[in-house]
Amino acid sequence: MYYFSTRSKNFKFTFTETVFEGLAPDGGLIIPETIPVLSSEVIKSWSKLDYVNLAWEIIKLYAPELHPDDLKKILEKSYQVFRHKEIAPVVKVGDIYILELFHGPTFAFKDIALQFLGNLFEYLLTNTGEKINILGATSGDTGASAIHAVKSKENIAIFILYPHNRVSSIQALMMTTVLDPNVHNLAIEGSFDDCQRIVKELFMDHTFKKTYKLTAVNSINFARILAQIVYYIYTYFRVSELEKKREVRFSVPTGNFGDIFAGFIAKRMLGTGIERLILATNENDILARFVNKGDYSVGRVIPTISPAMDIQVASNFERYLYYLLGEDSEKTAKAMQEFQEKKRLSFSEEEVKIVQRDFLARAVSQRETLETIRDFYEKTGYILDPHTAVGVKAGLTFKEKNIPLICLATAHPAKFPETVSQALGRSFTLPPEIESLTRKPQRYEVLEADSNEVRAYIQQRALI
Ligand SMILES: *Cc1c(COP(=O)(O)O)cnc(C)c1O
Repeated sequence: MYYFSTRSKNFKFTFTETVFEGLAPDGGLIIPETIPVLSSEVIKSWSKLDYVNLAWEIIKLYAPELHPDDLKKILEKSYQVFRHKEIAPVVKVGDIYILELFHGPTFAFKDIALQFLGNLFEYLLTNTGEKINILGATSGDTGASAIHAVKSKENIAIFILYPHNRVSSIQALMMTTVLDPNVHNLAIEGSFDDCQRIVKELFMDHTFKKTYKLTAVNSINFARILAQIVYYIYTYFRVSELEKKREVRFSVPTGNFGDIFAGFIAKRMLGTGIERLILATNENDILARFVNKGDYSVGRVIPTISPAMDIQVASNFERYLYYLLGEDSEKTAKAMQEFQEKKRLSFSEEEVKIVQRDFLARAVSQRETLETIRDFYEKTGYILDPHTAVGVKAGLTFKEKNIPLICLATAHPAKFPETVSQALGRSFTLPPEIESLTRKPQRYEVLEADSNEVRAYIQQRALI
C-alpha cells in the first residue's frame, strides 16, 4: 500500500512518510492508493475481536511496512492508558446509543488518535535515531491531547501555543500541569489567530523547519484518521449484534471533517452496514450547507459553546472531495484552486445526490444545544457535553424506527462545566482527575505574539 496526493499522481509516499509529512509538496492531502473493501468472511472473522485486535487488523492493511508484532505493541501501549477496558464503549441511553470516545487521558476523543500517533512517532524515531520537535497552536482539545500523547518520550519535544487566559481553564490546566521537560506550553499574549499565524510563519521558514525537524500533529495527518476508523467498525459490530440489525447510522459532531471522514472510510470498507453518516455542525454550518444544498462557501467564524467545531474551512474536506470527484486528482486540484480564489464551491444536483447517499446533515443552534443537554438529562439521566449534544440533536432529527442510531460522544461533559451547568440549571460532580487539576503545580511560559520571540524560545530548547 502506497499513498498519493489528492492533487496529482506525481508523489508517492510510504506509510512512514505519510506519518511525518503533513501536506504533499503540491499542497494536496495524502490519501491511500485504495480503500480496501472487506469480504464477508473477513467481516465475520473480525466481528468478535476486542478493540486492540480489531485496530491491529485494520491498521495492518494500511501500514504493511510496520512489523505486525511491533504494531501490536504500539496499539497495546496506546490504549492501556484508557480508563475503560473497552476503550470505546457504546451505551444504550433511551432509544439511542452513545459511543463514549472520552475515556482517554484528556477526556476528549482526540486521545484515541493522538495516543496512537505519539507511540508511532516514538517507535519510528527509535528505529532511525532521529529526533523531532512538534509545533502546534491550539484553542483547546488538540493541544492537551497531543501533550499527553508525547510527554516523557525521548526523541520528541513539543511546543504548543495557546492564547493566554483565553482557553477554558480546564483545557489550559490539562496542558500546563504536565511538567515533563520535553513539554513546552507557550501562553501567547494574543488571540488564537495570532498563535496560528506564528506557527504558520515558522513552518514556512524552510531552513528553520528543517534544522529543528518541526513536525505538525494537526487533523490532516492520515495516521489520525486511520486510528479513528477503528471505532466505527468496532461499534457497528457491537450494535448490529445487539439490535439484530444489518444497518446502523452514526451521528458525528463535525469541525474539520476528520472524524466523519474516518466514518466514510469505515463505511466503504464494510460495503454495507453503515446506512448513512449524519453530519452535525453548530452554527458554523458550511459542511451542513454543502450536504443539503451543494453550497460550500466560507462564512465568518461564529464563536459557540461547542468551540472545537467553530471552523469554517474544514481541513479534511479535500479528502472527501477527491472521492466525490471520482478519485480524479486533476479535478480535485482545479476545484481547490477555484476554492482558494473564490472562497466557495458549488456542486451540481447530481453531485449533491451522490453526497446524500452517504450523508445526512443538520446545523444545530446554541439554543438547541442547551435544550438538548437539558431534555436528554431529564429524560434519561445522562449528561451530554455540548459537542455531543449537537450530534444527538441532529441524530434525533433524522431518527428512523428500524435503523439503530449511534451518536459519537466526543468529549466528557466535565470538560465544559460552565455550559453544561448552565443547561442543567445546576452544578454537577467532576471526575477526580479533572477536579484535582487546580491543585497541581503548573509550568508555562508567557510570550509576546511575535514569531521571532517564539523562534528564539524554540531554538534554545528544541531537540536536535
Ligand atoms: C475536534 C473535536 C470535534 C471535531 O472533530 P473533527 O475531526 O474536526 O470533525 C468534535 N468534538 C470535540 C470535543 C472535539 O475536540
